[in-house]
Amino acid sequence: MEKGKSLHELVWLCQKIGRKIDYVQGGGGNISVKLDSRYMAIKASGFRLDQVAEDDGYVIVDYEKIKSFYESVNLSLVKDYEKESLEVAQKSVLSFPGKVLRPSVEVGFHSILDRYVIHSHSVYANILACSYEGKQLCYQIFKDENFNFIWIPYINPGFSLTVKIADELMNLSAEDKKTKVIFMENHGLIVSSDNLKEVYEVHERVNLLIKRWFKIRGRYPSAVLKQIGNNKYQSRTRFILDFIKSESFEIDFFEKYPLYPDQLVYINSNLYTENPKIELNPQKGCVVYNANYSEALAIEETLLAYLYVITKISKLGLTMKTMSEDETEYIKNWESEKYRKELLKKMAK
Ligand SMILES: [Zn+2]
Repeated sequence: MEKGKSLHELVWLCQKIGRKIDYVQGGGGNISVKLDSRYMAIKASGFRLDQVAEDDGYVIVDYEKIKSFYESVNLSLVKDYEKESLEVAQKSVLSFPGKVLRPSVEVGFHSILDRYVIHSHSVYANILACSYEGKQLCYQIFKDENFNFIWIPYINPGFSLTVKIADELMNLSAEDKKTKVIFMENHGLIVSSDNLKEVYEVHERVNLLIKRWFKIRGRYPSAVLKQIGNNKYQSRTRFILDFIKSESFEIDFFEKYPLYPDQLVYINSNLYTENPKIELNPQKGCVVYNANYSEALAIEETLLAYLYVITKISKLGLTMKTMSEDETEYIKNWESEKYRKELLKKMAK
């Protein structure tokens, strides 16, 4: 098998998707390419997609091992399936000397999908994935498209989400080679195909169709940071500053409207804490990050995406669907997400 070619494809996809902050923010989103019938290369946890290079930023896992775990798991027992699935994923990693990287918690669904998998947190997809009207609208927007469309109601990421996706895949026949487009409520988008060109083009097309449907024109805002001290950055992103100053904003805004897991990981946990990394001043319309550059940028991009989605949902007259208290709690206690944040800190530039 041409391992080199597949890695080249992985890097190409990661760069194409990873450079667009309307598709992925911070270390969110994930891309994988299967190298042969056993091994898969997938972006490592804690890295940004645009940091994936042929010699860095990804791990190689034995996806057959992960897949067979999900195929044989007995769901009727009382045990910590989440922990077990993380252990299986960790044990499936091919280790290289001097490198201790982990696959993302999303490695499960990548393992059971097609050769090429793009998972993004596209703001356009999330307008639909975070509103009550989203599912029905998807069926209308994609009605003439030649792909398999699947809508997944919100479920905890990791083990439960993979089981749910595996369940949905059972409804498709094995001969059905059409590209799969999966919308995950309060989370994001997955496009999966055995064809490289197809996976990229369908991801583009899904986003284009949503933009066209809602008549979203013009450029997505850039995230702009200004260094104002040692590990201190100020947001210069007009879209964010205008929102913070507006009347609809209040300091517990993010707690009131939890939209998706990455918001809780990057924003809420850095804001509603004893030593907040995010300082918000609504009167002055000022946002300051007490963090290194890569962490500040990850927060800024996540904040921009979140406020963009919220603004669009409201302007388009849709009804926002937030996460429940239980779902929010679950993310707050998520071990591997803590690891993801730790790694981000270590990668200080
Ligand atoms: Zn995700």
